[in-house]
Amino acid sequence: MTRTLTILGATGSVGSQALDLVARNPGRWQVEALTANSDVAGLAAAARASGARFAAIGDAALHGALQAALSGSGIETGAGPAALCEAAQRPGDIVLTAIVGAAGLGPTMAAVNRGATIAIANKETLVCAGPVVTAAAKASGAVLLPVDSEHNAVFQVFDHDRPDRVAKIILTCSGGPFRTRSRAELAEVTVKDACNHPVWSMGAKISIDSATLMNKGLELIEAHHLFPVGLDRLDVIIHPQSVVHSMVEYVDGSVLAQLGSPDMRIPIAYAMAWPDRIATPATRLDLAQIANLSFEAPDLARFPCLQLAWDAMRAEGSAPCILNAANEVAVAAFIAGQVGFLDIDTIVAETLARVASGPVGSIEEVVEIDRAARAEATVQVEMRTR
Ligand code: NDP
Repeated sequence: MTRTLTILGATGSVGSQALDLVARNPGRWQVEALTANSDVAGLAAAARASGARFAAIGDAALHGALQAALSGSGIETGAGPAALCEAAQRPGDIVLTAIVGAAGLGPTMAAVNRGATIAIANKETLVCAGPVVTAAAKASGAVLLPVDSEHNAVFQVFDHDRPDRVAKIILTCSGGPFRTRSRAELAEVTVKDACNHPVWSMGAKISIDSATLMNKGLELIEAHHLFPVGLDRLDVIIHPQSVVHSMVEYVDGSVLAQLGSPDMRIPIAYAMAWPDRIATPATRLDLAQIANLSFEAPDLARFPCLQLAWDAMRAEGSAPCILNAANEVAVAAFIAGQVGFLDIDTIVAETLARVASGPVGSIEEVVEIDRAARAEATVQVEMRTR
């Protein structure tokens, strides 16, 4: 049976891998809507190739360019934040949220509020507004299916009927490109170095988050909201081969894991086809050839972003939102060449120390805290600009 699919962030790394799966499986999905922020050519090409009904561009100034690129196709167009929400609201079976950053919050909430089945890759939305998003999903009947490979792995081996039997969720972490570097060596790394992930090919922001280990911190908070087993039952272990995508330990001492080659099309396909399983072109796992799987504890002194995220998760309320906003500002400044790699954790720590945190009960409050944290983080960037 054909299911309708909307992809928010269709021109990115996750979005384009999802479209690759759509193209390989004719008749399985009818694309309802696609969105991008500024990549008009990429969005128009994807919309034409997939037979989408609606294409929306986040930058309102680019509407004319999108209309021109899609002229004669019969594909409806929209632009600006409201059009991204319209894409999420249009009737459809599955919404893949693959926008990067807190910019995904509005469109994700639009999908949640209409009770959609959501394949969620946009972890920042859960980090900054987890309690609001999960409460809204409960009220509307929306289903959240994790796309992040770690959470998808946990989802596959989690006892959804008896979560009380879960002793621990163990998120694996590749360690990123700088796993063996000292703090002194990290002072001089470039954006290119940071984006050169040893295992995964991803967008720039998540690649840098992987290099600071903030990505794993954001994933801890994401796991806390998707699998509410308690903060003390979440753990992280470094696993450089990225073959074991995460594990669930049960009360009897059994540990269940999901393994696979590091190809995002596996978790994307799982979420988009759920509850079915479909074939993917991912390389089959050859354990004899891999031969060794290794594990080690994370080094929180060399990678303080993971500790900052852990602390923000324990503080709850607005702290994760402040952490996320400061990190987005700091990473953007690093990409722009304004600050160094080691400034990222300092900017996040200083912002957390300066922005008052408290409880968060609504999206409006999340948006206000996000704004305040970005303003403070911008000041912190300016103080360090080279
Ligand atoms: P990319 O940077 O590759 O793509 C981001 C997408 O979001 C693009 O379509 C981009 O449009 C769009 N976008 C960017 N900014 C905005 C904005 N302000 N408003 C609306 N749309 C916007 O990111 P990834 O695909 O790497 O990551 C997407 C999400 O998935 C992130 O939250 C990431 O953490 C998560 N994730 C990614 C994985 C991966 O393998 N890449 C793995 C697991 C999770 P445009 O092209 O026009 O800029």
